[in-house]
Amino acid sequence: MQTHEGFDLARRALDLMVEHKVAPTPQNYAVWVAYVSDSIPELSEALQSAVDKGGPIDDELCDELYDRYFTFKRIQDAVLDTGGAMSRELGAVVKTLEAAERDTAAYGEALAGASGQLDDATDTVTFKRMVEGLVSATARMQRRSRELERRLQETSVEVNQLRGNLEKVREEAMTDALTGLANRKRFDESMRKARRDSDLQGDDFCLVLCDIDHFKRFNDTWGHQTGDQIIRFVAACLSRFAKDTHIVARYGGEEFAIVMPKTQLADAAEVAEKVRATVESKRLLRKSTNEDLGHITVSMGVSQHLSGESVESLIERSDSNLYKSKQTGRNRVTVDRAQDNTGVAAA
Ligand code: GH3
Ligand code: MG
Ligand code: MG
Repeated sequence: MQTHEGFDLARRALDLMVEHKVAPTPQNYAVWVAYVSDSIPELSEALQSAVDKGGPIDDELCDELYDRYFTFKRIQDAVLDTGGAMSRELGAVVKTLEAAERDTAAYGEALAGASGQLDDATDTVTFKRMVEGLVSATARMQRRSRELERRLQETSVEVNQLRGNLEKVREEAMTDALTGLANRKRFDESMRKARRDSDLQGDDFCLVLCDIDHFKRFNDTWGHQTGDQIIRFVAACLSRFAKDTHIVARYGGEEFAIVMPKTQLADAAEVAEKVRATVESKRLLRKSTNEDLGHITVSMGVSQHLSGESVESLIERSDSNLYKSKQTGRNRVTVDRAQDNTGVAAA
């Protein structure tokens, strides 16, 4: 059954090659079998318009199609490329070659049968010789295709490693080294994304800003290194109460932010209050000497994104709430007043 189908495809490919005066080379055969079996739609499409014209098909087109869909050239191009494009390309090449391998194997089988069957049907001696030649050519192609595939698999492993490294580097570039929180770059990115989602889907979206109180004084008393220890402590408190969907960022030196997509103002305020209370409650010890550092506090500002509002405007309003917390005694959370959030943001 399979052999007959293969035989039929081989006959049609060969008929077309004869009709269009295509030289009976293994490369051309591969192209025409792919065409009649429609195993590579892009190739079929490219060849179709030439076939439609009816006349002889020039060698150049066949060579070009063979190069594009069956040779190592694509792989070389892909390897010269970098990052995602490279691995995508290689994935496609592996698939193409796997398909080519399957095709060649199937037609190798089919052609072996075909040349046997042609013994009786003494169609033309030339035709039989042609088929026999193609059978051995197909076997060669199969061997080469297997070798190519093996080499490609090896290359794929390397490309995956490279992609892994690139992802690691990208992750590092978005992470604050002192605290492990998102850095300013990721903060900006997540604000833009949250704003877009909020505008598109009408989700509530809030921003919490947090600043350590009298940190300069703390640094002056205990030194920069102990100051860094405090920054890490506040970072840990923020991470502890933020939800999985929130992005906790180090916004500046001793300033932090929690970007809260799909979060209502009351829930944002609750997270902020928990952080504030926890920071205040901990008695701090200097790591190096175990000296008592007393307590530190943070001030916070919480705002909800208004429909159509820019990222900058939301940051400004959170910051002004934070400023109010500082003005009214520090160690507190200031949240948007209800009437602030009734209107649509000014453009
Ligand atoms: P306020 O309560 O008004 O916020 O007072 P403050 O002293 O915290 O305010 P200010 O913003 O003027 O001071 C921030 C200080 O934070 C200045 C700087 O010494 C310190 N700082 C900024 N980045 C770092 C850092 O990475 N490590 C340490 N140890 N200190 C930092
Ligand atoms: Mg500050
Ligand atoms: Mg401060």
